[in-house]
Amino acid sequence: MIKALVFIIVGFAAMEFSGWFIHKYLMHGPLWMIHKTHHQPSKSALELNDLFSLLFGSIAVVLILLGVQELDYRFWMGIGISLYGFLYFILHDVMVHRRLKWFDRPKNPFLKAIFKAHQAHHRTNQKDDAVSFGLFVVPKEFFKNEEK
Ligand SMILES: [Zn+2]
Ligand SMILES: [Zn+2]
Repeated sequence: MIKALVFIIVGFAAMEFSGWFIHKYLMHGPLWMIHKTHHQPSKSALELNDLFSLLFGSIAVVLILLGVQELDYRFWMGIGISLYGFLYFILHDVMVHRRLKWFDRPKNPFLKAIFKAHQAHHRTNQKDDAVSFGLFVVPKEFFKNEEK
């Protein structure tokens, strides 16, 4: 079962790193037309940018279906990607953006750092001058204790 755990972690880590890359170079690049809906105030519950979640979710579903019979690496990577998607939703969509008002501002230092790092990403609504493209890998500077 150690193999399962390794592939879950691989799937999870692959999402953070490919997500960082896709966010920085594609979403804030040629796919800005879609992603900008996430950087502008929106009146509707859904954003065009949610298509990316749908895409990553579909990749996870396909991997799980391909691997479900053998319970091989594809299955566990699909689980890892799903886990990432679930936590991404909870932290990014619920905790940071409060699309659902489930909890207040985080108090835990790691969650606070994620919160601040992603707020820094949203300080701009432009394509070119954004920072901090990952979610779970938080640069050290956001852990600094400061006022409030
Ligand atoms: Zn962005
Ligand atoms: Zn965001």
